[in-house]
Parts: sequence; structure tokens; C-alpha cells
Amino acid sequence: MILIRLVVGPLQVNCFILADEKTKEAVVIDPGDDAQDILKIIRDKGFNVKYIVITHGHFDHVGANKALKDATGAELLIHEGDAPVMASAAQHSQAFGINTTSSPRADRYVKHGDIITAGEVSLKVLHTPGHSPGGISLFDQGMVFTGDSLFAGSIGRTDLPGGDLMTLIRSIKTNLMTLPDDTKVFCGHGPATTIGEERKENPFLNKESGFE
Ligand SMILES: [Zn+2]
Ligand SMILES: [Zn+2]
Repeated sequence: MILIRLVVGPLQVNCFILADEKTKEAVVIDPGDDAQDILKIIRDKGFNVKYIVITHGHFDHVGANKALKDATGAELLIHEGDAPVMASAAQHSQAFGINTTSSPRADRYVKHGDIITAGEVSLKVLHTPGHSPGGISLFDQGMVFTGDSLFAGSIGRTDLPGGDLMTLIRSIKTNLMTLPDDTKVFCGHGPATTIGEERKENPFLNKESGFE
């Protein structure tokens, strides 16, 4: 399987492209911005993008949805809980002094336990709310893409509309910390980590955190 990471937009979102080496079928996770950079890779590699999957609807993760969908015809997938956030992403970005292109509506909603398949890419949807109500993580063979729920050494902010700290801690403990220690964690911003590393070192999740 091919995995490509690009850092996009002013808030430096990690956009990921996962593709089947043989069939070139691909999934794009969180095309937050810089559509032309993402599309250049897709064209250069000859990828056939089947799905655009959004970990959550915040503007920094959805800004290139329209351009990507127009260019590839891929289906846009999100958890229903974040559809309203995605719908208001362009207005929300202006509060941060950033202009974001409005996202089209999702073609389909995904829920916990769904599998998103493109050739050998097979992403299992894990509902991880708390940073936002419809936040999801995506698990595939020893890797998990966590959006803004879990970061290396930290967790997502919970002060935005629909955010809740205890919900986030509970989602991470239930649906992410139950994965094997050697699972690679690809976060929505910043460097990658592993579940084992976060179990030991993350001040919100380790034994010293005080959170049950
Ligand atoms: Zn976010
Ligand atoms: Zn973000």
C-alpha cells in the first residue's frame, strides 16, 4: 500500500493519500487546502480516487473538498455528527481570518464499524467524538488516522462548539487505546506517534493523568 502525507494550508493540516499499488485506487483523508498540490500527486501517480474521507468537519480539514471532488468525481464521506460543522466551515474560517472554499455536502455518511475500501486500502471507521461530535478515526493494518482527536503528546482542543473533554478522553480510551501498542498514529496536525508511546507519555492518557 502507498501512503503519502502532505502538509496543507495555514493551519498545517496533514492530508493523507492512501493507494493500492497495483490498481491505483485511492482514498484521500482530510484535503484541507492546497488542492493543486494534492491533485498534482494524484495525476503524477495515476491514482483513481474513490473516496474523500473527512475525519471531522472543521474548516482546516475540508477546504479542498470541492476542487478534489470536481476533479476526481470521488465520493465525499463524513460522520453525520459533523455534517453541520462542515456545512458552516467557510463562515467559521473567517472568524480565524482565513478564507476557505465551502465544501459540497457529503455523498454518504459513515458510522462506527463501517469499512471504506479502495483496492487493498481498507479503512475501518472508529467514532472518536469529543473534539467535535462527529469526529472519526480510520484504522487500517497497524495504522490509525486520528484527525484532531489524538496528537503526539496531546489531544484535540475541546473548547470549540460541540467539543467536550470527557467525551474525547472516553472515545480515545475506548476506541484508540485499545489498539495494539505498535499501531502507528497519523495525526491531523504534527508528527506521527504510536499507541504505545501515547499510553506511556501522553499526559491526558497515561497512569498519572488522573482521568479514569
Ligand atoms: Zn479540528
Ligand atoms: Zn485541525
